[in-house]
Amino acid sequence: MSEDGRLLVVALGGNAIQKPGQAGTAEEQRENIAAACRHLASLVKSGYRLVLTHGNGPQVGSILLQNEAARDVAPPMPLDICGAQSQGFIGYMFQQSLSAALSELGVRTPVTTIVTQTRVSADDPDFADPSKPIGPFYSEEEALVLAREKGFVVKEDSGRGWRRVVPSPDPVGIVERESIRHLVDSGNIVIASGGGGIPVVEGSDGKLRGIEAVIDKDLAGERLAADVDADGFVILTDVEGVAINFGTRSQEELRNITAAEADRFLAEGHFRAGSMKPKVMAAVRFVRGDGRRWAVIGGLEGAELAVQGRGGTRITHG
Ligand code: ADP
Ligand code: MG
Repeated sequence: MSEDGRLLVVALGGNAIQKPGQAGTAEEQRENIAAACRHLASLVKSGYRLVLTHGNGPQVGSILLQNEAARDVAPPMPLDICGAQSQGFIGYMFQQSLSAALSELGVRTPVTTIVTQTRVSADDPDFADPSKPIGPFYSEEEALVLAREKGFVVKEDSGRGWRRVVPSPDPVGIVERESIRHLVDSGNIVIASGGGGIPVVEGSDGKLRGIEAVIDKDLAGERLAADVDADGFVILTDVEGVAINFGTRSQEELRNITAAEADRFLAEGHFRAGSMKPKVMAAVRFVRGDGRRWAVIGGLEGAELAVQGRGGTRITHG
């Protein structure tokens, strides 16, 4: 049993939903999610309370492709609505699978998904230089037509073709934080901020509107973890932990590091942008918040060990 039902925010990587090389059929996604849910259920069985978040890159990519392919018969939806769609269907699969995995362990805890908006600043520097490729690949000619007709920013993506790029602004806050807190306080496992949340900015009229951007799910997961005042922030991915000199012969796995050490490794450029770097940044931000917080970055299959401090890379204050 964990001490007094400690609260964890768990950020699930792409591999919890779709493995590399898979097409992303409903069956494949259900199976992957069911496997992930067995690890999550075992954490609940040992007494942890959970808030979950997850990526949505391949899923929103498919929705964009479907929109594109069917554009003459059904109007394509903007990116914020596609993001909301992906949160809904992924949340649904987790609600069903996690409830089933819990009931196999004799646990009855309600599982609820919140369609989540994440506030970003209209002055975020990333708006000036969008960098995150999304959606289908195009020929140069098609890409330039989309740029002219729809105002898309398009870039050549490492020799594979042309793609639309959108900004990836830093998350400022979770709009639905109060609702999420209420649900957690009343005993729900909450799935929130899927895909980093739907990016919204506040207009001069005080109203929120969705924008064409994507938010890193680990950085948004940190906002979520701070908002629910989690004890631990657990980032589960497809490697066993964080390494320095990654991909070289002097690669070295880190076990326990302080936020100050993590900052130094970040400055030395050990972590790749868009993959490990935002995870380490998110972990550092979280442990620097109030309270005796810790974060761990580890493999999905080793989730229980990582939470117990017997696997993964643990980041603590200092
Ligand atoms: P997720 O879908 O879980 O967010 P990402 O692909 O974004 O997964 O991030 C995990 C990947 O980060 C690993 O598969 C690994 O290739 C990469 N990575 C980059 N730098 C490092 C590092 N220093 N240590 C470990 N993994 C790293
Ligand atoms: Mg990632």
